[in-house]
Amino acid sequence: MAVKIPRTPAREQDPAVRAANFDEVCYGYSAEEAMLEASRCIQCKKPSCIEACPVSVKIPQFIHAALSGSFAEAARIIAQDSSLPAVCGRVCPQETQCEGACILGVKGEPVNIGKLERFVADWSMSSNLNLTEKAAPNGRRVAVVGSGPAGLACASDLAKMGYSVKIFEALHRAGGVLEYGIPEFRLPKERVVKREVDNVRKLGVEIETNVVVGRTVTIDCLMKDEKFDAVFIGSGAGLPKFMGIPGENLNGVVSANEFLTRANLMKAYDSRYDTPIYVGKRVAVVGGGNVAMDAARTAKRLGAEVCVVYRRSEKELPARVEEVHHAREEGIAFRMLTNPVAVLGTDSGWVRGLRCVRMELGDPDASGRRSPVEVKGSEFDVDTDVVVMSLGTSPNPLISSTTPGLESNRRGCLVATETGATTRAGVFAGGDTVTGAATVILAMGAGRAAAKAIDEYVRST
Ligand SMILES: Cc1cc2nc3c(=O)[nH]c(=O)nc-3n(C[C@H](O)[C@H](O)[C@H](O)COP(=O)(O)OP(=O)(O)OC[C@H]3O[C@@H](n4cnc5c(N)ncnc54)[C@H](O)[C@@H]3O)c2cc1C
Repeated sequence: MAVKIPRTPAREQDPAVRAANFDEVCYGYSAEEAMLEASRCIQCKKPSCIEACPVSVKIPQFIHAALSGSFAEAARIIAQDSSLPAVCGRVCPQETQCEGACILGVKGEPVNIGKLERFVADWSMSSNLNLTEKAAPNGRRVAVVGSGPAGLACASDLAKMGYSVKIFEALHRAGGVLEYGIPEFRLPKERVVKREVDNVRKLGVEIETNVVVGRTVTIDCLMKDEKFDAVFIGSGAGLPKFMGIPGENLNGVVSANEFLTRANLMKAYDSRYDTPIYVGKRVAVVGGGNVAMDAARTAKRLGAEVCVVYRRSEKELPARVEEVHHAREEGIAFRMLTNPVAVLGTDSGWVRGLRCVRMELGDPDASGRRSPVEVKGSEFDVDTDVVVMSLGTSPNPLISSTTPGLESNRRGCLVATETGATTRAGVFAGGDTVTGAATVILAMGAGRAAAKAIDEYVRST
């Protein structure tokens, strides 16, 4: 009987050391480790991992190439379907997608597809492999709003079809949440995000930063005056939600988006930059998703004592298991079944604490998760200097409110078909601006689907 090879672990920085620096937590695989892990793939005839990948990366094929050390070939195979493999290898929730569908996972541990993709992508970057094949221009022009994963995926597929594509980005750096939201210690900016964005540029895609569509220029202006044949909106969901409790206006209450943008995009953690960021001695992060974990781990690295306050139990935490595990290893405390009812302030208007109530779980709600119910008379106070609200985000209404005929739904998301067609002819949309806050790979999948639909639309006009 063949000896079963256990899943190859990826080396990581020591938790006690990394809790005080912003260097990447995971070191990834060496070539030997990657080849060993690749040998675990049984090359299924009907690979369910491909079906489970929203951009349909040819997973068994690239793993087969990696097994024999043909890393350049592996990188070429991945590049056919993904423009951001080094990003996806690091941040995709593989456990619910490709790895969740891996047949080895039924009785044991799935192939570590994420770490293999990351290894191949990093190898290809450090070998300066050129994977970009420019198509002959077809004379048609498409405008893309937003340079996050949705916009980048849509732009690269269109460029590969011969379109002249211009991305308009509101911020001064391209990448969307990859650049301003996900911290450096999970996703290095210069070494990974910038290089993958540059690969999209190499396809001929132009990226103009500091352009707020809806303010600097409208969608109608892009179509009528600037004569773009179609527009793709991939403007994400960057508008933070708050609780609406007393004291939320005190100094020291901040949204996770603002907190992370200061740290990541504006490099507040780096002494060479003068971006202010305040953590005081203690930080309470309210929420339980990946964004909450990122905010908590960032605050810890900035020197604070951090606790995550979450109204349901550990089982219902929406964050990835790996993120929660890393946060605990780094010394983040968790207050489960706890809900803030007021932020407490000092006489000078700064946060001094959080008034909370204990919760217990009742019947399942519409999401299938058991709803938290307040335990009467259970109020207690938690001392804290800063409160980071991480309660989810929704799309900014700027574009829908300045584009006549572009419908959005009750949640503020743009209304679009599966292939991205909105209620305005020639205007397509995808990613978080349509679904609400979701994942990098779903946004990329939506961008790719829209690129195909845009091509069909432009050809028909
Ligand atoms: C802190 C954090 C951590 C996350 N961690 C993970 C993770 O580990 N794994 C995962 O899969 N997903 C994660 N996500 C979710 C994931 O990043 C998003 O689902 C994904 O980035 C959505 O892509 P998008 O292209 O739709 O939007 P975004 O990435 O939000 O990009 C939209 C871009 O559009 C720009 N824009 C907005 N309005 C305008 C305008 N009017 N004019 C011009 N430009 C505009 C924005 O500046 C932004 O650059 C995380 C999200 C956050 C916030």
